[in-house]
Amino acid sequence: MGYSVEVCHHCKRIFNYPGFGSMYCPECLKIDEENKNKVKEFLRDHGNANMYQIALATGVSEKDIKQYLRDGMLEIPDGSPIYIKCENCGCDIRSGRWCPSCAARMSNDLKSAYAGVGDVPKEQVTGKMRFFGKRNQDENRGRKKRK
Ligand SMILES: [Zn+2]
Ligand SMILES: [Zn+2]
Repeated sequence: MGYSVEVCHHCKRIFNYPGFGSMYCPECLKIDEENKNKVKEFLRDHGNANMYQIALATGVSEKDIKQYLRDGMLEIPDGSPIYIKCENCGCDIRSGRWCPSCAARMSNDLKSAYAGVGDVPKEQVTGKMRFFGKRNQDENRGRKKRK
């Protein structure tokens, strides 16, 4: 753990990443926080709105809304026509990166990776999985560099 230099996923500026949380620089985090709340409030009142209507009403771009969904910052309520795609099998999901069955399969893979370490509580696996997923690319990148 500790700070590392990362590129903000939003504005592509370099910032000090504290080792946890979203890959956004502090400025984008602030804007994202406001945007996310706007979308959340709008969805609370208009759960059936589509992406275009949300973007129009909140001033948040559809691209950003999708990014919030991917990051799990936002969740689409039941009854909404909005879906995003599972990054693994491409089926429709409402939040995060994978559908429940792909997420379960990945957490199983992870569990067997932990098999030698002992039993990992389910909650911890879920937490690690999300974290693992986010950091995975960067760790791979780091590993390649080191070789
Ligand atoms: Zn940024
Ligand atoms: Zn899937």
